Amino acid sequence: MFEDSWSPTKNQDGSSHKNSTSVTLASYHQSSSEDSAIQSASDSESPQYELHLSKDFANRMNMAHNPREEAIHAAHNPSAGSVRQSPIDIHKANAVFDPQLEQNPLRISYPTKLKNCWMENTGHTWKLNVGDSNLSISGGPLFGRCQLAQIHAHWGGADSKHGSEHLVNSKSYAGEIHFVHWNTSKCESIDVAPLHPDGLAVIGVCFKIGRAHPELEKLTNAMKYIQYSGQQVRLNDSKIDMRQLLPHDTSRYWTYEGSLTTPPYNDCVTWIVMKNKIEISQQQLDAMASLYQDSQDKLPTGMSMDQCQKILNNYRPVQHQSRVTLRASFQLPQRHEGKTHQVKFTS
Ligand SMILES: [Zn+2]
Repeated sequence: MFEDSWSPTKNQDGSSHKNSTSVTLASYHQSSSEDSAIQSASDSESPQYELHLSKDFANRMNMAHNPREEAIHAAHNPSAGSVRQSPIDIHKANAVFDPQLEQNPLRISYPTKLKNCWMENTGHTWKLNVGDSNLSISGGPLFGRCQLAQIHAHWGGADSKHGSEHLVNSKSYAGEIHFVHWNTSKCESIDVAPLHPDGLAVIGVCFKIGRAHPELEKLTNAMKYIQYSGQQVRLNDSKIDMRQLLPHDTSRYWTYEGSLTTPPYNDCVTWIVMKNKIEISQQQLDAMASLYQDSQDKLPTGMSMDQCQKILNNYRPVQHQSRVTLRASFQLPQRHEGKTHQVKFTS
């Protein structure tokens, strides 16, 4: 039975453990190490890759708005200097309508509500790990089937004027949710997906401040249980409908061949950036911005919560050196005839 309150109770197995506390319809535990989180990954996912991703996101988010560290890291990651780096500023005039995207529409198959998922504070974002293997996308710009592995978000600060990774006509939004899929048709496992030029497919959905989002509320309500880095909460019984987190109209999007926006910045992502945005409330954004970068046991003695570093501005700036082919799945007001062409993004 679902209850709005997330009051801690005993574990689902009836036991009691200082690091594992169940809440109604969602068990919560504060992991003492990243490994314990990894071990609870589903069989369909690679533990190593989950760990890898966690660390990548951690490293990357640390560098957000730290050009020096990003430059140092880029020197050790050849992909960081490539011409298909993400995110980009999507200028509508540079996008070319591709009729094939209309004829072979993007198919989003999120048929069931999540039964096996958990959310964690990575120290740099919240991440909802999808344990179910039957959520996938295909069609559109994709070759084969891409399975949903996790979603996470990027956001700015309290002003809600910036936070999205992708810009549209140089406009930023309060934040952006990423739906990360790996190509099961081309890759043996999610481990090797970053080694393929189209190993990952990420749907980007920008959000702006407005009405509260009912489905996202299931996540933001639980963020009080993952305040510190390394903490996790299981949401198995929340029955999250991932489809509801997407815009109602998913037929209109921009797509390009880009990269991870986190170290090691592999050129492995087919980006699908939705034209339509979703609305979330200021309170829901505040819930994300209330998460801390630090783990509870690493806090300096005597430091109050107010002095801890919160997760803010965890987005990578647009990469002006990107030279990508930007396609639109929908007709533009000023239609460009003919085939797609190379577009250079300059500031
Ligand atoms: Zn992301």
